[in-house]
Amino acid sequence: MDAKAVLKAYYGYDSFKPGQEHIIEAILQGQDVLAIMPTGAGKSVCYQVPAMLLSGITIVISPLISLMQDQVSALNDIGIQAGYINSALTDSQIRQVYAKAIDGLYKIIYVAPERLESYDFIEFVNKIDISMITIDEAHCISQWGQDFRPSYLKIVDFIDSLSKRPIVSAFTATATEEVKNDISCVLKLQSPKLVTTGFDRENLYFDVQVIKKKNDYILNYINKHPEESGIIYCATRKNVDAVYEMLVNQGIPAARYHAGMSNEDRKTSQNDFIYDKCPVIVATNAFGMGIDKSNVRFVIHYNMPQSMENYYQEAGRAGRDGEPSQCILLFSNQDVMINRFLLEKKENFEVSLEDAELIRQRDMRRLQLMEGYCTTSGCLRNYILEYFGEKKTEPCDSCGNCHREFTEIDMTAEAKQVINCVYETRGRYGLNILLGTLIGANRARLKELGVTNYKTYGVLNHHSETELRLLVNQLIADGYLTQTAEKYSVIRMGDISSLRNPKTRIIVKTYKDRELDSKKSSRSRKGTDSLTKAGFELFDILRNLRVNIAREEGLPPYIVFSDKSLIDMSAKCPHDKVSMLNVSGVGEAKYEKYGSRFLDAIATFINEHPDEVTSIMDDNDTVDTTISGERERKPKKVPFYLNPEDACNFEYKDLYLVTEIKEELNRITSVENVKQIYGTDIFRFLAQAGYVEEKKIDGRNIQTQTSLGIEKGIVTTEKISKNGNPYNVLLYPKVIQKEIVEHYATLIESNM
Ligand code: ADP
Ligand code: MG
Repeated sequence: MDAKAVLKAYYGYDSFKPGQEHIIEAILQGQDVLAIMPTGAGKSVCYQVPAMLLSGITIVISPLISLMQDQVSALNDIGIQAGYINSALTDSQIRQVYAKAIDGLYKIIYVAPERLESYDFIEFVNKIDISMITIDEAHCISQWGQDFRPSYLKIVDFIDSLSKRPIVSAFTATATEEVKNDISCVLKLQSPKLVTTGFDRENLYFDVQVIKKKNDYILNYINKHPEESGIIYCATRKNVDAVYEMLVNQGIPAARYHAGMSNEDRKTSQNDFIYDKCPVIVATNAFGMGIDKSNVRFVIHYNMPQSMENYYQEAGRAGRDGEPSQCILLFSNQDVMINRFLLEKKENFEVSLEDAELIRQRDMRRLQLMEGYCTTSGCLRNYILEYFGEKKTEPCDSCGNCHREFTEIDMTAEAKQVINCVYETRGRYGLNILLGTLIGANRARLKELGVTNYKTYGVLNHHSETELRLLVNQLIADGYLTQTAEKYSVIRMGDISSLRNPKTRIIVKTYKDRELDSKKSSRSRKGTDSLTKAGFELFDILRNLRVNIAREEGLPPYIVFSDKSLIDMSAKCPHDKVSMLNVSGVGEAKYEKYGSRFLDAIATFINEHPDEVTSIMDDNDTVDTTISGERERKPKKVPFYLNPEDACNFEYKDLYLVTEIKEELNRITSVENVKQIYGTDIFRFLAQAGYVEEKKIDGRNIQTQTSLGIEKGIVTTEKISKNGNPYNVLLYPKVIQKEIVEHYATLIESNM
């Protein structure tokens, strides 16, 4: 097998994403690699695919227990044997992993960095052939980064201690120059292949909403996007609790997460979210590290974060699966004050006073640039990309600002008043006092400072604070004013010489929201939007099936299938193994495990909506075509039935599962052009007969027998899923089997 074949067979993907192929090639040629790719770019594939092709074992060093478990579940689910070793396992479980690895059962083992020093582990690695060491989240090695992990520094000693140096590959999403150098030097990478793909996340739609009624906005948003999974980030625990209660009171299944909760409660919340029991979570920034949930459709910031780094990292948790997702920041003027207050209160331990001051200035500068993002009238995506050092010129046409109509107003006269005010107050005050003075706000604090006596107090009282804020930000951006980065940031005079020229104009852009132009927003019209109404109905059905399977298996739903796969499935409506394997994200192992249940569900849907479904398929060009490209005209199929003489071929057994009955029926029918029968058809028949029913318990559909069904001898039996979780199935006795066969053998008249 080559890399591409591995990608198709295991992961079910047809082609590599940008950068992946280069990285894999380099690794397979024995070269070290340092890859900097944004979240969702598909870094895991870059080391997992070569791990499958290299002769020995790949050891992946990963910082968080939850990340490891998630990755290993995902690997096992696509049929790649992998294990992990961390402190969540007992000694005997760890010994088991060692033994299996020594027996050659694993290609990939995940370990926490602390483990590298343990005597057991060193003894273990001497017994195996290590082809590659992969360092995931490699920025943890740098003291410059936000997530510095001292134990990452031990990796290099570990590599040095090995008798044969394996290939070393390092991956991260965050890499300023400093961090990049740190990774390369500290890890002693040997002429590594450096691969950097852009920071842009095309599938994310960015927007900033300047509003006061944030709760209304959130409720409205969630009601318009039912069942979508999303994160709402708040600045404080208090906000988290308030928003959480507001949602729960409105009957929205939400979870919450902040550092003030007990470990246990946080874990429950996290799991409720990951397993889609509560699709929405309200959280502080304590939440997110170690969450690889791929189907997060929106990230709403209830408050402005403290820096663009924070914002992009948090917002970036949306849309890992590459499907369109929204990142919305709700901005109000108060956010700036809250953040300043938080920064001022922040204590920097273990640093000298001078350093503390430097750090504070840096933080203040970051906050100002964050505010710039919230008030800019330019393309939001470009603002982000430029912040991270990428040059973009064309507006993206896929962010709130690109979809907004801006009006330009000449505020030259107002600008002069603002400058007078700064002059009059001798640059002693910050933005909020300045704005309060200009609009003549009636605030005790202003009186206390004595600014109410200034000539400029209230000169711009016919303007709103928001409007003036835009103006001041514009003046700062143009250099007429400057904003200091000290503890109490104040606004001072900048270079105003050009303002003396009567021709100079100060133009401020304000906007009103414009309806999305459906042609222009083509870039964001993918995902479920690309489905027809029937396609969306099918997507919903498949999503429910995914939740049921996930609960049986004890896996997060997105590990069973990603949203992307389900959308593709709803568009392509596969009808057999070959067409199912054509769906993005469906590989051999997944097909074996879940293929038939999804095929069943799709076929049932098609049976029930024959007309609408043709339109789903027409839209997507996925109707069977012959080699010449013409549509194959298949004779119309008739609903399932048996010829009376078929009935005697049914092999009765004491007890059958419904799927076994289904297979028997499909096997024995001699009718030509008959549609297949599905488990759900049989279940429906049995429900009509009053033997079984479907109940919703804990949000999950459970099938049980009625008392009449019990009388007839239908029994429940517990099965254990692959992951050791129990679930119930119904078994049907011979009498019922006979009734079913008779039913279908006498159907001819009624159905034709
Ligand atoms: P990262 O670690 O870079 O944030 P992941 O490795 O978690 O990203 O991958 C993000 C998503 O992209 C996953 O759902 C993964 O299955 C998917 N993916 C990876 N490679 C491909 C590919 N070649 N084609 C389609 N999807 C891919
Ligand atoms: Mg990753």
